[in-house]
Amino acid sequence: METKTNQFKAEIAEMLDLVVNSLYSKKEIFLRELISNASDAIDRAKFLSLTDKTLVADNPEWKIEIAVDKAAKTLMISDNGVGMDAAELEKNLGTIASSGTKAFRQALKEKGGESLPELIGQFGVGFYAAFMVADRVRVVSRRRGADAAFQWESDMGGSYTIGDSTRDGFGTSVMLHLRDDQAEYLDRWRIEELVKKYSDFIAYPITFRQIDVPADEKEEDRKRREEDEKKPVNTMVALWKRAKKDVKDEEYAEFYKHLTHDWEAPFETIPFSGEGQVEFKALLFLPKKATMELFMPQQKRGLSLYVRNVFIGDDIEMLLPSYLRFVKGVVDSSDLPLNVSREMLQDDAVIAKIKNAVTSKILSTLETLKKDEKRYNEFWNSFGTVLKEGVHVDWANAERLKKLLKYPTARGDAGKTVFLEDYVKDMPSDQKDIYYLLSEREEDARKAPQLEAARKHGCDVLLFCDPVDEFLTESLREFDGKKFVDVAKGDVAFGSEAEQKAEKDATEKAAKELAPFIEAVKKELESKVSDVRVSTRLTDSPCCLVARENALPPSMVRMMRAMKNEVPDEKRVLELNAAHPLVKKVSSMKGAELSDAVTLLYDSALIAEGSPVTDGARFTKLLADLMLK
Ligand code: ADP
Repeated sequence: METKTNQFKAEIAEMLDLVVNSLYSKKEIFLRELISNASDAIDRAKFLSLTDKTLVADNPEWKIEIAVDKAAKTLMISDNGVGMDAAELEKNLGTIASSGTKAFRQALKEKGGESLPELIGQFGVGFYAAFMVADRVRVVSRRRGADAAFQWESDMGGSYTIGDSTRDGFGTSVMLHLRDDQAEYLDRWRIEELVKKYSDFIAYPITFRQIDVPADEKEEDRKRREEDEKKPVNTMVALWKRAKKDVKDEEYAEFYKHLTHDWEAPFETIPFSGEGQVEFKALLFLPKKATMELFMPQQKRGLSLYVRNVFIGDDIEMLLPSYLRFVKGVVDSSDLPLNVSREMLQDDAVIAKIKNAVTSKILSTLETLKKDEKRYNEFWNSFGTVLKEGVHVDWANAERLKKLLKYPTARGDAGKTVFLEDYVKDMPSDQKDIYYLLSEREEDARKAPQLEAARKHGCDVLLFCDPVDEFLTESLREFDGKKFVDVAKGDVAFGSEAEQKAEKDATEKAAKELAPFIEAVKKELESKVSDVRVSTRLTDSPCCLVARENALPPSMVRMMRAMKNEVPDEKRVLELNAAHPLVKKVSSMKGAELSDAVTLLYDSALIAEGSPVTDGARFTKLLADLMLK
């Protein structure tokens, strides 16, 4: 092919510019990224050869070599992995997968240039880290099974070239022309230090070779050097196969970073093995922070699966229930056949057993973590929203999961959350049910008039302010034998039976007295509410809106509408506080005056719960008239 010059896509040019000008001190991570790519390339070659033996007709001894030429100031990382053809070079090194691009730029905008190296890793653009230390990079690659080799080259000038090349064996070599101030990476000692630090667990031997040996090298020096150059720099033992006591925290952390492209050490490391029914070794991690990928259903990232040391894939979501998708790690089993296909994994009994064991292990880790309030809160703030989904979908573990849930409460301080068992422990002796209030914002929930009666009776109320909470109310059902009851729905009754009876009598009496007024309000608000009645739940506010006991949950309504079903707007019930001076006053009004006052009352109920008023213009006019009076 003719050598052609291509412009980088705008976002790569932009990113490269930032990489080159980055003042970030840890430029050394470029080596980890390139070694990681080499290792992935070998993993892929091994995997593809499971079904196509011709790819390994050369009987490769898998290896990664780092070669330096001090005189030419070059550093080369070579592998004999899968390799790339011209189209793949262009696609892989000239564009960022479009789904990632937007998110990358967004994150870059939010976090600023300093976090660039971190983002490079997270967004799978590790290759470009090479430009932190090099001003020219050439990639020569020959795809396994192909005769021709191609090269990709760029000096960061906004473009790259792709053309023919030659290469003896299959695989890829990445040649870095180091910048003048980056000569440290020509030093054997420095490179070995970095390999040990970041890439010790890489499963293939990484060797170091010096290209420009002095012509007058002594015989004994040559022998020693050649001897050294044969020895791998890394130990290569898969970390998950080593006993926990033999692995340093930093080693776990480096492995985690290699696996996830996270920049921070993991929050929790969970090594464990399955014995008995299925034999497997697993090394799981809880990250510190949630990433956007958690909420992108198209990103199917799961655990990495190895079968007898062969890497099968890192998107094996069958090994984890989706509500634990924040967990990262590796599972290695000798009980699966090597030539597994995705379809087979789907309903494989061994996989199902591993999934159960992994799920149970993670839950028991969280149960232990729960004893450390500060750390558990940290975990909960990052992943609570995702974990909650489990109550809805994993019936077998629902009871264990409920004990891991945390909620803010009406009585507790903002930002503080409690476990359900703590809520139950604090219930007054005559409280039978667990109360909750749904709201979009905790702030609004705290001010909701619907809480007044609960407060009066000394009952606390859980605040369900996460969008998933609404779904959850349908699956929570019971905890510790107690039902979950929405304080803003139907007619909730608080207090002892005697109290309830007294309240009921008082309400009935008030209803009788106010009967003509209630009729008038009903007529006035006919199009907006399904009923008007005297409330037992209000102490300070004049009125509030509540849902009918058997109303469809709003989430269900949204879902049905999304499925193009006709669902009429759910009209709620307006409850009036008969003892409130405002209600008393309005009940004595007539005609237009009454009509305006009722509208204002209704609008004030909407505002009190954080909902918008139905007719803003009318509301403002009525308010202005009132103020002028
Ligand atoms: P990531 O490795 O996270 O996908 P990179 O920017 O590091 O992102 O690499 C982009 C792509 O280029 C890789 O996904 C891979 O397909 C390809 N690639 C990079 N290095 C090699 C290599 N040594 N051998 C084969 N393919 C490679």
